[in-house]
Amino acid sequence: MQITKDGRSETTHRTELLEATAIADEIKQEVAREVAQLWLQHEVKPCLAAVRVGDDAASAVYVRNKIRACEEVGIRSEHHALSANTTLIELLDLITSLNERGDVDGILVQLPLPEEIEEARIIEAIAPEKDVDGFHPVNVGRLAMGRPAFVPCTPAGIIELLDRFNIPISGVNACVVGRSQIVGRPAAQLLLQRDATVTICHSRTRDLAAVTSEADILVVAIGRPGLIGREHIKPGATVIDVGMNKVTDEATARKLFGADLEKRLEIISKRGYTLVGDVNPAEADEVAGKRTPVPGGVGLLTVAMLMRNTVKAARMRRGLERTVNSEQ
Ligand code: NAP
Repeated sequence: MQITKDGRSETTHRTELLEATAIADEIKQEVAREVAQLWLQHEVKPCLAAVRVGDDAASAVYVRNKIRACEEVGIRSEHHALSANTTLIELLDLITSLNERGDVDGILVQLPLPEEIEEARIIEAIAPEKDVDGFHPVNVGRLAMGRPAFVPCTPAGIIELLDRFNIPISGVNACVVGRSQIVGRPAAQLLLQRDATVTICHSRTRDLAAVTSEADILVVAIGRPGLIGREHIKPGATVIDVGMNKVTDEATARKLFGADLEKRLEIISKRGYTLVGDVNPAEADEVAGKRTPVPGGVGLLTVAMLMRNTVKAARMRRGLERTVNSEQ
């Protein structure tokens, strides 16, 4: 409560922004130390093979960022950029050869693949022990059983962020909006594993706001710019915004960005777009206790967690880390 100049009392609310830049750097530094130690103690240098098919501009940027992160932490990397008319058989052949190579620890196939190539066939062809994205059914199954090996990077980053900001998970009501294989489902599994009471919402959920507004931790991964507004958020809740959407017009920007509006309009006029998550930041800031910004939030952790998974693969493949099977 604050007393204004004219003597009125007013409640001021401030939402804490969970900025991830420092955390992403911290994780990369930890990985870099592990990579250096692996070399000193075992003469092992982890290697990530990134595979990309076609000319999708966003995919090219994502792969470039991953390769750059490898360089930062000392992981060796290979970039297999294949033409858009690569066939399923050719791609399967490449995966098989990467599976067989002793010097390759992690295999990453950048999604989406061209429509003609069935993604499930490719994901299932990757050796589970090299599946650093955690999408192979064996790794999905292990996660569902509460015995995770490789966990998808974005959800793993969410848990890391909650932990490093000391946000309790055990016992709280957590709601995940979105049930994709890469974010929603694994995020819900991880929260469950950490003893949250978990609800999953999706496009068929009746009265979304009634469900989400019960959540102490609300994770949103739907790909709908600013859909989650004040009515969806429990006062004081922690809101994790996974969405990454482009806003190109001023009218939409005005509905989304409060104090940030002028800066965002400037970015749109310079670059043609600005990024917004699936949460309306202006409305969330009226009620949320904490929220991740977009950009500058969850997105930064995804690549850092990929680096960590690659080192884990290098250690597990050489028996330097307890594997899931050795825990039985
Ligand atoms: P996706 O595969 O398209 O899945 C979207 C999910 O949202 C689906 O489960 C869908 O429900 C649900 N949904 C859609 N509209 C809804 C609505 N109106 N109400 C409730 N649920 C709704 O998306 P994704 O791959 O999980 O990605 C989600 C967002 O996260 C995107 O903006 C993406 O760009 C972003 N992303 C960010 C990172 C990162 O590193 N920061 C990584 C991955 C994704 P149904 O299942 O019923 O269709």
